[in-house]
Amino acid sequence: MTHEPVVSHEAEAGDEFETRLKVYEGQRAAVARLGKDPVNAPMIRHWCEAMGDSNPAYSGPDAIAPPTMLQAWTMSGLSGHTRGTHAYDELLGLLDEAGYTSVVATDCEQEYLRPLRPGDEITYDSVIESVSERKTTKLGTGYFVTTRMDIRVGPDLAGTHRFRILKYAPIRRAGREQPSQPDRRQKPARPRPVVSRDNAGFWKGVEQHRLLIQRCIGCGTLRHPWLPGCNACGGLDWDTVEASGEGTVYSYVVMHHPPFPAFDPPYAVGLIELAEGVRMLGNVLGVPYDKVRIGLPVRLEFQACDEELVLPFWRAHGAHEMREAGA
Ligand code: ZN
Repeated sequence: MTHEPVVSHEAEAGDEFETRLKVYEGQRAAVARLGKDPVNAPMIRHWCEAMGDSNPAYSGPDAIAPPTMLQAWTMSGLSGHTRGTHAYDELLGLLDEAGYTSVVATDCEQEYLRPLRPGDEITYDSVIESVSERKTTKLGTGYFVTTRMDIRVGPDLAGTHRFRILKYAPIRRAGREQPSQPDRRQKPARPRPVVSRDNAGFWKGVEQHRLLIQRCIGCGTLRHPWLPGCNACGGLDWDTVEASGEGTVYSYVVMHHPPFPAFDPPYAVGLIELAEGVRMLGNVLGVPYDKVRIGLPVRLEFQACDEELVLPFWRAHGAHEMREAGA
């Protein structure tokens, strides 16, 4: 990877640009919004089940909500919020116009001041707390924008939620221009996998058409997805084994809705049980989406989705093989 050289006249203009961004510090990002639902026992129960949290404080007649649910009461869901304030939209618009078109959430911090209980009605405000100087990160150069949400029940501050995003101009790889063919413009690229320090080895393997399973050196347990430590023994040392590529459909869903621009629904997504015993998700090919069944034998196949992205897919084979419909 190479960094795009910063052109000097841009650097001078940069100071002026940063001054324009700083104007937004302290401005409101959301004013007097109402939580979509009051704090309620069903959402608390689902959360605790998903987290595997059986703390008795979160159930029964005197239940409180788990403090870390704070953001759940303010989230917009798929239907979205009413739009952000003019100031927040304007700030993001300025960054877009200047070429900082990508966004990634980087971190959040929460403070808890009062427990939330079923029946509590949430209101919240949000303020643009800070806009950083221009920073260069591994993703690209851009600006960190921190918003602080104050969550209230009546007049009481129940907690604060600080949320930081990086608006950045992605680093373009050497020799790879932005796609310009009309068909590429019409169909957005398939979303990229999120590659982290923990799973980088997996994606490196995929690039080389090898499906690598992590193996604990301490106890030999195989694991997927990749994690820093072993859930069986806590060991931190690991190596990998290459998957044979044989598997069966352990479970599946057929995606109809919501439509994502890079995909053509309906299509089947399988939870594949590998011959080695671990499970992973992937598209099931080689049979019509409505003929995918639990237990269907599948075989690994690597496909290039575009010039930068290779993904593992699972193709039905053997007696179940059928002519593919469409996909
Ligand atoms: Zn282990």
